[in-house]
Amino acid sequence: TPVIGVLALQGDVREHLIALAAADAVARPVRRPEEIVEVDGLVIPGGESTTISKLAVLFGVMEPLRARVRDGMPVYGTCAGMIMLADKILDPRSGQETFGGIDMIVRRNAFGRQNESFEAAVDVRGVEGDPVEGVFIRAPWVESVGAEVEVLAEHGGHIVAVRQGNALATSFHPELTGDHRVHGLFVDMVRANRTPESL
Ligand code: GLN
Repeated sequence: TPVIGVLALQGDVREHLIALAAADAVARPVRRPEEIVEVDGLVIPGGESTTISKLAVLFGVMEPLRARVRDGMPVYGTCAGMIMLADKILDPRSGQETFGGIDMIVRRNAFGRQNESFEAAVDVRGVEGDPVEGVFIRAPWVESVGAEVEVLAEHGGHIVAVRQGNALATSFHPELTGDHRVHGLFVDMVRANRTPESL
């Protein structure tokens, strides 16, 4: 069984732990560099990306995490977590840094005032069956992607789910819906990445 960490600096950590357990992973909160090297994959939750960025520097995980993502550790970011996986943010707050890992430019709070929070059915490539119920909360969208990035879903003409290699990101929050298929997709990515002898 793959062991998947949830970066527990700020955000909806508990909901991800529950969703990962439901998708047949062993899930645990992680926040220190030595904890991050022990997991097979990592979820970066929704929350507030500027806060997560600051706390990541404070807890000394910014560089170790960047290194692990570069090395190909599977990662999945939702909402603020998607922002943290972007190589570039449009209009970052001053000092706001990201882990990177996906060659994309992300626009924070993109869906705007009138539509700060909403739900919409989203067709996600790689998720079988009915559309996923997308919960968007002051959500980012992906402004543009590089050639290596696979677009998995769009909403209203904007990219809201992407994958590049072992990095997955969604603008919305599957951890809030009780539908664990997107977490299942990520758990499968983590399983596929493990060496055969550890399966
Ligand atoms: N707007 C938040 C940010 O910029 C993200 C909101 C969320 O994660 N639900 O970090």
